[in-house]
Amino acid sequence: MASADVVIVGGGANGTSTAFHLTRLGARNVLLLERRWLGAGATGKSGALVRMHYTNEHESRLALESLKVFQNFDAEVGGDCGFEPVGFVQLVGRGYEDHLRRNVAMQQRIGIKTELVSPEDLTRLLPGASTDDVGGAAWEPESGFADPNATAFAFAAAAIRGGARIETARDVTRVVVEHGRVVGVETHEGRVAAPVVVLVPGAWAGRLLEPLGLDFGLEPYRIQVSIFRWPAGLVRRDPAVIDAVHESWMRPEGGAATLIGVELGAGHADPDHYNESVDREYVALCRAKLSARFPAFARATMRGGWAGMIMMSPDGRPIIDRIPSIDGLYVMLGDSGTSFKTSPAIGRCLAEWIVEGRPRTADLTPFRSTRFAEGKPWIDESNYGSERLTISR
Ligand SMILES: Cc1cc2nc3c(=O)[nH]c(=O)nc-3n(C[C@H](O)[C@H](O)[C@H](O)COP(=O)(O)OP(=O)(O)OC[C@H]3O[C@@H](n4cnc5c(N)ncnc54)[C@H](O)[C@@H]3O)c2cc1C
Repeated sequence: MASADVVIVGGGANGTSTAFHLTRLGARNVLLLERRWLGAGATGKSGALVRMHYTNEHESRLALESLKVFQNFDAEVGGDCGFEPVGFVQLVGRGYEDHLRRNVAMQQRIGIKTELVSPEDLTRLLPGASTDDVGGAAWEPESGFADPNATAFAFAAAAIRGGARIETARDVTRVVVEHGRVVGVETHEGRVAAPVVVLVPGAWAGRLLEPLGLDFGLEPYRIQVSIFRWPAGLVRRDPAVIDAVHESWMRPEGGAATLIGVELGAGHADPDHYNESVDREYVALCRAKLSARFPAFARATMRGGWAGMIMMSPDGRPIIDRIPSIDGLYVMLGDSGTSFKTSPAIGRCLAEWIVEGRPRTADLTPFRSTRFAEGKPWIDESNYGSERLTISR
């Protein structure tokens, strides 16, 4: 029977980051199993915004630690993650000015480079934007977006250089547990013995968790994005934006287009049979939201789009944990459409936990799997109007 010290299930940004960080901390016999190909899940479809603005300190800390990796990717990991520091603007509606102030103060306190932006500066940062409905804005000069596929490929290549094995087209059908502890995984090509298993299966987690009796209320969602060519006369690459008023986010795509995701486009779907194309109604919705903020886009040509699958947790925050009831089982579940930007830190935390006995990079207690059973789902006091959003959170 094949064996490994650690088996990772899932070859997205979080699985490959975990594999890389495990090898960096000295773990040798690391095996990552991916049922399709690297980046086949949410990672490959991600908008890949890299920003640190969250309405809670815990995710902001993970994002800050991760930004340091995106900024120095070649030195830290090796290769190119396609990080483009175009800057980031968070827009909030009227009535949320105090929440924004509190969040920016929290972010500054933990070392994030960010500031509140006056209406005049906002016009300078986003020329052509219609801002009458904006209550406040925050600016992150160092944020931007990355290439999510390149990031996962580079993490995987670095893990392999560090001694890990990565096998694609390898479907894990079951986590094998005996007497309350993990002893390996079953795949369609036989069993792999391992004392530690890390589950990072994205929207496909259900069929692995169910036989283990683990139910965290996770739900797979199909989310979409679409791309609009800049209209005539528009030649400037704007910063990335999250627009809490219009529940949308956008960023440059290539040299002359904008990629937009709209919250209202999210909906349930079967991750094994979902439509990977963008819906016609969704394109119209994106055009409406984009042109509500940037009126010139009312005459923009749609140039493409796609759909991907994410896994929502009941409170819209990921679950990152060592499962208390099953020795040797670690998880990163319920990515909730927001866990690309934090994947460098999440992988590092999981690797520290496995190799050193505890995560050092960040406190993962708020991400614990038991919070739902405890009746303490995560709630951000200073949100911007909708507590449980997916992609524009
Ligand atoms: C359209 C879209 C836009 C997004 N925008 C952003 C954004 O701007 N910023 C941001 O931070 N996040 C964003 N996200 C979310 C982000 O992409 C995800 O949170 C992140 O990529 C999750 O990575 P992951 O490695 O946890 O999971 P995934 O990338 O989903 O990887 C899971 C992998 O596990 C594999 N797998 C599943 N089951 C098995 C099995 N039984 N055996 C073997 N392999 C298995 C799957 O094939 C898959 O490759 C977006 C997502 C989408 C879809």
